[in-house]
Amino acid sequence: MKQIGSHLLRLFKETGKGLLELVFPDFCIGCGKRGELLCGDCLEEIKRISNPCQLCGAPQEGPICYHCRDLNLHFDGARSGGLYEGILREILLAFKFKGRADIAEKLWNIMIKALPPYWQIDCVVTVPPHKGSLRERGFSSSLLLGAGVAHSLSLPFYPHILEWRREVKRQVGLSRGERFSNVRGAIALTSKREVEGKRVLLVDDVMTTGATASACALALKRAKAQRVWVLTLARDITLKI
Ligand SMILES: [Zn+2]
Ligand SMILES: [Zn+2]
Repeated sequence: MKQIGSHLLRLFKETGKGLLELVFPDFCIGCGKRGELLCGDCLEEIKRISNPCQLCGAPQEGPICYHCRDLNLHFDGARSGGLYEGILREILLAFKFKGRADIAEKLWNIMIKALPPYWQIDCVVTVPPHKGSLRERGFSSSLLLGAGVAHSLSLPFYPHILEWRREVKRQVGLSRGERFSNVRGAIALTSKREVEGKRVLLVDDVMTTGATASACALALKRAKAQRVWVLTLARDITLKI
């Protein structure tokens, strides 16, 4: 499985990057300056989360945030590279919807910087893509980010271990409560052996309420994963309902 991850990365670097360089020379995706895909000034603009809730990773004053006190989240902790706004939102949208897979390496480097030093990790898995999104875009952003994170940390990568066991509505447009009931029990494992007794890092592109991540974590915990940590590129805290 680890080989699949590095194979995927190699393939993406060789074909994806080569082709994209012809189409897009290295201009900063944020400000358009020539030289780098994401320049130092734009990187500085990403709003990092300096005081995360110990559980869900949202910006927070105390150790555990208001939402987490009421929720039964099944993961042990979540962190994100930055807030889903401004430059980070722009580059993630370009990555997902404008075919800018060449920016992936910058993105997983941003993610790795958000990992707390006390998280012990044995392997990396990803939130499964919805079938429709794969058809539309031809690639899964969570899969590519997961492969990169696993590769950078030299950890085994199990990309297809989680799957949707039924069709669910897109979470966009749903309230906080609806999001949790929409995905409840909707994730299953294709194999348990790889995660049993392991400290698992679950990777996704954006986390909003944590409902999907929590459904994934529950499936992993039922397969006796010892810990489930969640790492996303961005954290969306704009949902008010
Ligand atoms: Zn820039
Ligand atoms: Zn929280």
